[in-house]
Amino acid sequence: MHCPFCSFQDTKVIDSRLVTEGGQVRRRRECIECGERFTTFETAELVMPKVIKGDGSRQPFDDAKLKAGILRAVEKRPVSVEAVEESIIGIQSRLRGMGEREVNAAKIGDLVMEALRKLDQVAFVRFASVYRRFKDVSEFRDEIERLESKE
Ligand SMILES: [Zn+2]
Repeated sequence: MHCPFCSFQDTKVIDSRLVTEGGQVRRRRECIECGERFTTFETAELVMPKVIKGDGSRQPFDDAKLKAGILRAVEKRPVSVEAVEESIIGIQSRLRGMGEREVNAAKIGDLVMEALRKLDQVAFVRFASVYRRFKDVSEFRDEIERLESKE
């Protein structure tokens, strides 16, 4: 972001906050050259952070991938499409609200787990066992069976 006062190429963000129900981020910036302050409004698409993969590569945030992961976890579970959509919107808002340009894939995984835990216990365990690649898979299988047998 160039400074609108002196056109210097680097400014620092001194404050970020969500506005209009998470659809935009308002940022206060300060030019590191002339010290002038100004405000920018960034829309959702622009502030969705890039995803840092486990191998260090960066990828654009992928809505479809997030949705597919959640749908896989809730398959055949009593979870409405609406609840899934709401979870996705919630996760996106949280990510935008962080105001970071890049975010670890692991952080997204944590947010998904948090959302699934509220949606459905079995879906949560399914996702957790895949996502965390636990060595002790049998432990998770037991947990799924325990949860399913309660119904
Ligand atoms: Zn400046």
